Amino acid sequence: MSENVNFMPVTSYLNWDEYFMLQAMMASFKSKDPNTKVGCVFVDNNNHQLSMGYNGFIAGINEAKIPWGNNKSVPLDQQKYAYVVHSEANAVLHAKTSLENSRCYVTLFPCHECAKMLATVKIKEVIFLSDKYNGTVENSIAKKIFDMSDIKYRELKIRNELINNMSQYFQSMQ
Ligand SMILES: [Zn+2]
Repeated sequence: MSENVNFMPVTSYLNWDEYFMLQAMMASFKSKDPNTKVGCVFVDNNNHQLSMGYNGFIAGINEAKIPWGNNKSVPLDQQKYAYVVHSEANAVLHAKTSLENSRCYVTLFPCHECAKMLATVKIKEVIFLSDKYNGTVENSIAKKIFDMSDIKYRELKIRNELINNMSQYFQSMQ
């Protein structure tokens, strides 16, 4: 009996890590922060998305009355930092289900305030794209919190092959 020609080697462009990091990146694109756009996605053990978020001002308030500037030489009430909710906080607040034992894909390593929250809801792992604040006190506090809570964290590099595939895809759709 000859082999069925319809059986062929199949591959996926994406592994789950890249799939969810791309989702976190898409979420970050929704942020209106002109300087720092962060997105995150929470995923359960079955690779189902549980929640997502990006950094933005408090929901429902008049955004036009709040500044996006990050100049710290003026009083705090005139800085974005007083009013921004981080992506991880938004995702936790909007989750419809428990985030216990979930993985958090986030484009920027969590700050220590978010680390407290992620440890409190008992996630199991953080997968991040950038750790640009590595070496700062806040960053090392966040890592200390994760270490004390047995939360693993690891950097993800998006493969060049995937970036090239996506670029070709977009060009083919033009
Ligand atoms: Zn944060």
